[in-house]
Amino acid sequence: MFCFQCEQTAKGTGCTVRGVCGKDAETAALQDALTHVTKGISMYAHRARALGAAERTVDVFVIEALFTTVTNVNFDPERVADLIRRGVEVRDRARRLYEDARAKVTREPEALRGPAVWQPAPKLEELVVQAAEVGVEQRRGRLGEDVAGLQELILYGLKGMAAYADHAQILGQEDDAVYAFFHEALDFLAGEPMDVDALVAMVLRVGEVNLRVMELLDAANTGAYGHPVPTAVRIEPVKGKAILVSGHDLKDLDELLKQTEGTGVNVYTHGEMLPAHGYPGLKEHAHLVGNYGGAWQDQRKEFDAFPGAILMTTNCIQQPKDSYKARIFTSGLVAWPGVTHIADRDFSPVIEAAQAADGFADDGPDRTITVGFGHEAVKGVAGAVVEAVKSGAIKHFFLIGGCDGAKPGRNYYTELAEAVPDDCVILTLACGKYRFNKLEFGDIGGIPRLLDVGQCNDAYSAIQIALALAKAFGCGVNELPLSLILSWYEQKAVCILLTLLHLGIRNMRLGPTLPAFVTPPVLDVLVRQFDIQPISTPEADLAASLA
Ligand code: SF4
Ligand code: SF4
Repeated sequence: MFCFQCEQTAKGTGCTVRGVCGKDAETAALQDALTHVTKGISMYAHRARALGAAERTVDVFVIEALFTTVTNVNFDPERVADLIRRGVEVRDRARRLYEDARAKVTREPEALRGPAVWQPAPKLEELVVQAAEVGVEQRRGRLGEDVAGLQELILYGLKGMAAYADHAQILGQEDDAVYAFFHEALDFLAGEPMDVDALVAMVLRVGEVNLRVMELLDAANTGAYGHPVPTAVRIEPVKGKAILVSGHDLKDLDELLKQTEGTGVNVYTHGEMLPAHGYPGLKEHAHLVGNYGGAWQDQRKEFDAFPGAILMTTNCIQQPKDSYKARIFTSGLVAWPGVTHIADRDFSPVIEAAQAADGFADDGPDRTITVGFGHEAVKGVAGAVVEAVKSGAIKHFFLIGGCDGAKPGRNYYTELAEAVPDDCVILTLACGKYRFNKLEFGDIGGIPRLLDVGQCNDAYSAIQIALALAKAFGCGVNELPLSLILSWYEQKAVCILLTLLHLGIRNMRLGPTLPAFVTPPVLDVLVRQFDIQPISTPEADLAASLA
């Protein structure tokens, strides 16, 4: 196997035996094959669309297939193999769409090759061998590391964007232009482009379209559950039976809350689900009692200790310990072999497992953190913020956001947040905030010094806040007293980074390490165009930001 799509890739170069994430070689190969088939679907769908023919099932399959291959989503080779076979059927439908549309304009269809005609072997073992031929390693050998790396940068951006597009479509927000772009970009990749300028241009277009996808997702979440409002969230247990929900799928949480209403089972958020507490339509459920634990990479210890059932909605799952394997469940695109999957939002098995477990014997102490500073909440205090900047009470803003992970180097973000001077405000979002969101930061004239904007899904909010500040000060985002210090881990973070590049944001600092698929010459292009730089030490980066 060869996979280097996430930050924790082995030795910083690539997982070759078994993923650090737990992905085995078989599943890695099958995910490459699924990506290959998906490119084939888009080759036809892109051409069909140019002739006015489209089908939603084809569009949605493509984003679900890409999302399946995101880090920490699907570890089940049988389910990935099943998706490959379904993908071939979807590709046939897309081909017929294209051929029928082409016949109407009385022209012979193009004879497409590569992913458009690739046929998976009937047996799983043969499919795994065959899949090894369509992975990135072969392309690196054929096209060189720079070109293959740029192709992967586009692909990983598309994977992350697919995750957000899927969440948006689950809540009824779609845009045909977004689906059209997925097909266009995958068709572009299927042609194995080598022109570096064309590749860089496509990288930035992924960022551009992802901004629209983030807007759709924001509309989906706020349309369904209202705009987040600042909310104190309990971070200690409440006596009683319990279910812990992680991942990003607010509809799953909503359904679970409805199904647990009146059962006496309390619901807690974990990791990525923390921002749910800020949504009026979710916080109205009194039995959504609090947040438990920290970021995704702590789950094996925390789930082990949690005395109830656990539901993993769309990522990030790690290999479950035997101690909780019978009381953890997956939904949506998440899968782990041997873990019960809830395919239809009937969460009865999860509720039964919670009732069979011990639950919390006692209430913990009263401790809370505050979440819910989405774009509307922050814009509501924009006048006070602008005044505080003009009076000198607020000197600088730091956006310390992005992923968390297991590497020791991520302590940088805790040390940085702790060292931010008292006259500065920290905006934070995404899993990385667990490094410091339980620390006490106080306030500046009533404005909290730590504003939790939400999850990586809520990057749109952070962008809107930055744009609103720029408008209030009559300048561009790059001229604001604002430093972006970001951490990345998986492909959703990649597409957000591409959006920031598309918006022309400069001087971002990125860590804890740079992506393995970005080679030195490609990094050179990014540094020259965007002044993007790796993090160094908290002291040096703080001094540079405040200079
Ligand atoms: S997703 Fe990350 S950890 Fe998992 S195999 Fe790929 S590079 Fe390795
Ligand atoms: S913040 Fe990063 S690690 Fe967390 S869910 Fe988002 S992309 Fe994944």
